[in-house]
This record gives sequence, C-alpha cells and structure tokens, in this order.
Amino acid sequence: MGGVPASTPPVPSPAEPLTAAVEPARAAAVETAGAADLVGEHLGATAEAVGPAELGEVLTHTFASRLPGYVGWHWAVTIARVPGEERVTVDEVVLLPGDQALLAPAWVPWHERLRPGDLSVGDVLPATEDDPRLVPAYTVDDDSADDAEGRVVAREIGLGRERVMSREGRAEAVARWSSGEFGPTSPMARQAPGPCATCGFWLPLAGSLRGMVGACGNAYAPGDGRVVAADYGCGAHSQATLVVVQDTEVVTSARYDTSEYDVLAD
Ligand code: SF4
Repeated sequence: MGGVPASTPPVPSPAEPLTAAVEPARAAAVETAGAADLVGEHLGATAEAVGPAELGEVLTHTFASRLPGYVGWHWAVTIARVPGEERVTVDEVVLLPGDQALLAPAWVPWHERLRPGDLSVGDVLPATEDDPRLVPAYTVDDDSADDAEGRVVAREIGLGRERVMSREGRAEAVARWSSGEFGPTSPMARQAPGPCATCGFWLPLAGSLRGMVGACGNAYAPGDGRVVAADYGCGAHSQATLVVVQDTEVVTSARYDTSEYDVLAD
C-alpha cells in the first residue's frame, strides 16, 4: 500500500476581523516607529500557519517603511484572534527588509578578512583551532611522517611544536611561492641559463617540500635569502658560463683619410 505523500498543512483563510484590522495594525506600527509619517501605505496581509484552527488565527499586515535609511524595508505587524472572539490583539511589530532593501554585507569573521601583507609590527594574528593549514604534530600527513603510508612517526614530539603544517597548508604555500616573483613564470626565470634545482647556490627545504622549493644562497642573485621554486632560475646560476666572443680587429685609423690633399697626376 502506497504511502500518502507528506504535505504542508493548508493555511486557513484569515477571518474577517483579522483582515479588516488594518488600522489597529497601523496604530501598532506607528507606536513602534514613533511617528505616523514613518509608516507608509498598507502593502497587504498574509495569513500565518499556526496549527489547528482551534488554537487561533494569526495574520500579518505589512506597511511600507518611511524610516530614513530604510529604503525597501517594511513594517510587519502580526495580529491574532481567538476563534469565536471579535477582539484582535497585536503579537509583534518588526521592521523587515524587502527584496530591494539595502542591507549590510554579510558578516565575515575578522580572520577571514585579513589579507597577506596586512600584518604590521606589533599585530598578533592567532591561528584558529580549526585552521586547515595546521594539524596536530602527531596526526597523519604531518611533514615529519616518513613511513610508507604517510602515517606518523612524530619526530615533532618533544621538540615543542604542537601543530605543524597540514598537507593542504603546504600545498597552498608552494602554489603561492611558485606563482610569484620567484616562480618559473617570472621574466627572470624565463631568461635563466638553468633552474635553481641544478644550481649550487640552491638550499632545498627539509621535509616533503625538498624537491619543490628552497632558499637561494647567492648574494648576487635577486632571490638571495628568499624562497625560490626549484624551477625558478636566474643569471647568477652556478653553472652559467660566460661565452667569450672572438676578438675582432680593432681599427684605430680612419679608412678614408681626408686630412691631406690627394696629389693627382697631370
Ligand atoms: S643563484 Fe639563481 S639559479 Fe641559483 S639558486 Fe639562486 S636564484 Fe636559483
């Protein structure tokens, strides 16, 4: 036997006393707004679902807002009536935004608003408990993990670090460094005689990033003291060789001497 599909109970038609109670609802809105001219025209009425009819009838009247700064908002006045009674009571009065209302941007936690480079001297930027760039030092995928499946051999334990960079955090860092000034697509790298990975001045990072990034130790290189990608490179590469061009004859005397008269034969 097939089941009966679930459906939302129908909203009962509001009783006449509720739909007719526009002026009492307006009076409630004016009282909340503080002045009659802050409540505009009546926009409509919507019956509210409150359950079985014997519990009562509830309806919301809406009025345009004339509050300065609240363009597109409206007053919503919810009124109710006990079945069988004529008396209507006001449940609540609220100011609500409509489709065209000006709204403040969605709240963004402060730590998500900061951008790289925003940190100044003296600022403190604590990492959150759930920062995806960090994992406890004893968990999987720690950079110190070195067994075949990548599970922990937590060498960090005892060294005072409770958290280390997660796989995701390390991948983000490498992507950031490689796409920047010291990555393979920079103009310097494209003209380089060879990549950093083959340069004697390249000091690879320890851990799983060893093959991807390192520090440059060449005082004459633009990347000296910076993290450079393995496939970056510069003209100060240790294997760069100077191609000596063959000396050409240096002519110091003029080929056509105009300092003397030519003696022409008769
Ligand atoms: S000298 Fe140039 S090629 Fe060598 S590591 Fe430094 S940046 Fe890379």
